[in-house]
Amino acid sequence: MMAIVAGMTALLAYLLDPAINEIFVNRNQTALWAVPAAVVASAIVKSVADYIQSVQMSYVGQRIVADTQLSLFDNFMRADLAWIHDIHSGRLISAFLYDAGLLSDAVSKGVVGLLRDAVSVLMLIGVMYYQNWQLALVASVGFPVAAFVMRRLGRKTRKVSGKAQAETGTLSSLLTERFDGTRLVKAYGREADELATVTASVERRLGHLMRGVRTKAATVPLNDAVGAVAIAAAILYAGLQAQSSEMSFGGFTSFIAAMIMAYQPLRSLSTLNNTWQEGLAAADRVFAMLDVKPKVADAPDAPDIAVARAEIVFEDVHFAYNDGTPALKGVSLTVPAGKTVALVGPSGGGKSTTINLIPRFYDPTGGRILIDGQDIKGVTLASLRRAMALVAQEATLFDDTIASNIAYGRPGAPQSQIEAAARAAAAHDFIMGLPQGYDTVVGESGVKLSGGQRQRICIARAFLRDAPILLLDEATSALDTESERQIQATLRGLMKGRTTLVIAHRLSTIVDADCIHVVEGGRIAESGSHDELIAKGGLYARLYAQAEAE
Ligand code: ADP
Repeated sequence: MMAIVAGMTALLAYLLDPAINEIFVNRNQTALWAVPAAVVASAIVKSVADYIQSVQMSYVGQRIVADTQLSLFDNFMRADLAWIHDIHSGRLISAFLYDAGLLSDAVSKGVVGLLRDAVSVLMLIGVMYYQNWQLALVASVGFPVAAFVMRRLGRKTRKVSGKAQAETGTLSSLLTERFDGTRLVKAYGREADELATVTASVERRLGHLMRGVRTKAATVPLNDAVGAVAIAAAILYAGLQAQSSEMSFGGFTSFIAAMIMAYQPLRSLSTLNNTWQEGLAAADRVFAMLDVKPKVADAPDAPDIAVARAEIVFEDVHFAYNDGTPALKGVSLTVPAGKTVALVGPSGGGKSTTINLIPRFYDPTGGRILIDGQDIKGVTLASLRRAMALVAQEATLFDDTIASNIAYGRPGAPQSQIEAAARAAAAHDFIMGLPQGYDTVVGESGVKLSGGQRQRICIARAFLRDAPILLLDEATSALDTESERQIQATLRGLMKGRTTLVIAHRLSTIVDADCIHVVEGGRIAESGSHDELIAKGGLYARLYAQAEAE
């Protein structure tokens, strides 16, 4: 379609030759009708081709954006937790929305423009050379100069565009964090300071964008100047030649028309280079994200894990986060099948880290973790995670119905099972009290529910998951005593018959655990049952006495 558009454009320029020479100079009656008819016909063909190519190319551009977005999201969902925590969600969102859009411009405007305009220019230049090659040669002296100008400005555009995109990432991180923390901002009266922080980022971004705008705005005038010199040179040369009358009037007009018509696509080509450079800067960022492959991944030919008894064994496990400071310095422990083992100790000791290693959110830097004798690094992630349910401190809910939130770990579960899970988690009654029952939508992150209610939905989710291994991460530490007591009762039901590793800040809640490990400074400081540890009179006994005193 582009070739047709370009061909028809060149044909229109060419038709001026017979129009003038045949109609006006030779008074040819056939040409009087044939030339206008040809003009109309070629214009119609050109319009139709133009329409089809512009719709098709926009589709290609938008399709590429959509595919890029889907690949990005897929990659984000599979990426390592450590990478996601390092990069900040605002940057991910800006890559997803803003950078992908710049790619679209580069493709839909850049590729289309490049192909169509380049073909048009080539054909029009063909007309020029056909009419008079010496004249065309004179008119072409401007091209190398224009190419040099475009190159310089294009590089500058790419640089400032990269900076603007980076600042957009920073800005979107700032915004997501401030929106999540609106309560904090209001409570501490920091609205004006936050405005100042955001203003600084917005202004920096504006600065980068304006540098880009100035570069882009300079491109066209600079090339216009070059073009004007080239046209002037062509007219002068043609005028001089005309005096020795080597060229017909029609030929000269057609030549000048082709030159002026070539001007418009040449102009767009010069601005296109900028769009193209912006797209390339965006592509740098997008592909850098797409190229990140998760380190926590299935080993080649890894089998599914076979969980029968669900015994968990840590063998001298070491772990350090990305910054290199060791979080676990040789943890060895066993969670016997069907038993409950508790981790307690001062915060920052390494309890959450220990639990996070079991679903392989991170891989240990040393030692092994075995489930029923199988190293968890050697089995598929999907089968490993299918064997466990996680009830985390944050009580994460999505803005969806209560039923879907409960069924998150077992999609497609029948309503009867969802209700049974909710009953087991002592959530059924309050859910029935809500206006739409199980179809009530919980709001962003579950804002429409109380902390205890959210927690109970998460417990129902774990019940429905019905996995042999249960990981509880400070599940009740944020609740009042009454809710906590209720939730403790339902948790006891949940733990029954499952291998459970639990973190609790309130020591009273884990007194009947089968074994308690006190984790301090990345090591297990002491282990035993509640009574044994109290009798020992060590760290646990001190922590317990403190808790009692409070
Ligand atoms: P606990 O659960 O006992 O409070 P954690 O396992 O959360 O302790 O933390 C153990 C250590 O690891 C702490 O020193 C903490 O600062 C560090 N840590 C925890 N999470 C991260 C992280 N994502 N990146 C870097 N360091 C971390």
